Order: sequence, then C-alpha cells, then structure tokens
Amino acid sequence: MSDAILKVEGVIKNFGGFRAVGGPDGLTFNVPRGGFLGLIGPNGAGKSTTFNLVSGVLKPSEGRVVLEDKDLSDCKASDIAGLGLARTFQTPRAFPSLTVLENVMVGVSHTNEGPFSAMLGNWRQSDGELREKAQAALAKVGLHGHEDDEVGNLSGGELRMLEVARQLVREPKVFLLDEPTAGVDPTLQQKLASLLADLHAAGTTLIVVEHNLAFLLNLADRVVVLQNGALLAEGAPDEIRRNPDVVAAYLGA
Ligand code: ADP
Ligand code: MG
Repeated sequence: MSDAILKVEGVIKNFGGFRAVGGPDGLTFNVPRGGFLGLIGPNGAGKSTTFNLVSGVLKPSEGRVVLEDKDLSDCKASDIAGLGLARTFQTPRAFPSLTVLENVMVGVSHTNEGPFSAMLGNWRQSDGELREKAQAALAKVGLHGHEDDEVGNLSGGELRMLEVARQLVREPKVFLLDEPTAGVDPTLQQKLASLLADLHAAGTTLIVVEHNLAFLLNLADRVVVLQNGALLAEGAPDEIRRNPDVVAAYLGA
C-alpha cells in the first residue's frame, strides 16, 4: 500500500463546454494517510466539484481518483462511502421528519438519501449501542441537549454540525468537509476546531474546504489552492500564507 491514502490523478470535469475542474493538464494531488489537507480557492474554483468527484457524486470526464490503491472509476458513491470515505455538503442536508438524534443514527447504516422509512422500525428506540454512538457524536459537535429537537428548530450552523455528526458516527477513514464553519457561531466553530484536531491526532485523514483561512491554516498540515479548476499552489500553511500568487488570487489582483 502506498503512503498516499487518496490520489487525484489528472482529473478533469467538464460541464458541457465549461471545464470546472482540471485546467489544461488535469488536476493532480495526493493526500497522505492521516494527513490534514486544506483545500482553498476563490468562489467557483472547483472545490465542491472536486469533493463530488472524490466522493463519487460526479464522475471525472478524464483521469481517476484512487483510494487506498483502489481505482474508484467504477464505484458508485455508496460503494465509496462503504470504503470508509465520508463527506459533508456545502449545503447541509437532513431528514426533516426525524429528530436530531435519529438523523445521526440513520447515518450509520444509510450513506445515501434513499428510501429508508421501512427500516426505521429496526433501530428506532431499540439499538442502545447505536444510540450511544450517536449521542457521543452530537456531543462532539456541540449539539448535546438537542437530541430530541426537531431538525426544523435548529439554526443553520447547528444543522451544519448535525451533518458533521451524521458522518462522524460512521467513523470514516477519510473525511471531507465542505465549508464546515459557514454560518456557524464562534462557540460551535471552536468545538469543530477541537473535533478536527482530535480526529487528526487519532489518524483520520481529513480534507477540508474553507473560506475561513484563519481557521483552516491553523489546523491543516498541507494546503492545495485551486483557481479556475487548476492547482495554483500547494504547500505547508506557512508557505501558502506567503505565496504571492495565492495572495493575488484572494485579492482578485
Ligand atoms: P467552489 O466550490 O470552488 O466554489 P464549484 O466546484 O461549486 O466551486 O464550481 C466550480 C465551477 O463549476 C463554477 O463555475 C460552477 O458554476 C460550475 N459548476 C458546478 N457544478 C456545475 C454543474 N452541475 N453544472 C454546470 N456547472 C457547474
Ligand atoms: Mg463550494
């Protein structure tokens, strides 16, 4: 097994005539096992599309994604989730008819938004171990005490944390988070920062897209910068902070 747990190899994604990811040569980067990669870039740079390509929501037009030496080209999103990859969406999703706790419990056995109501009876109120895991995940994201809330009563930031908990409970090997601090208040952001640091210390591979660079550059050990779908820069957070191309991209110069 190679040192890189995830390899993005010459990936291109075209939407009609528009190339959202890949630039002229295709996008290539590796994520070392246990690494914490920050993925940054201006709006429209292709960050969320890259997550969609890695998690199998979209298929590359060219190139391939390799997870633990397995080519994911023929894998569905649910297969990739089954290999231990989890991701949150930039716009959080939840099951509105379930409580906060139930939303997390359902995350363990259901990686897609497929029909599941018939199976609810199998675990609802019944699986104590699953319930405990879900409660622990909610506590880790700062949602302790909200277990029985209706999802509709959560704030936007709490909903985002619920989605993190729903993936966390699956104990992913590789965890992708798309703008996890967006709309999240400072207290929950602090919870999230310590959660990510704990996951990193425990060996989980993390890839995090963020607009909050102060938050991300404090946590990540490597950073990939995208612009117009192509790799603009790659390096340690300190190198990225000083990189004139990165500064220019962010200032729109
Ligand atoms: P980011 O997450 O970096 O802000 P995205 O990956 O969401 O950027 O989008 C990259 C570019 O691809 C944008 O110009 C966006 O409008 C375009 N794009 C994303 N998804 C689609 C799609 N399904 N169809 C057409 N264009 C898309
Ligand atoms: Mg995005």
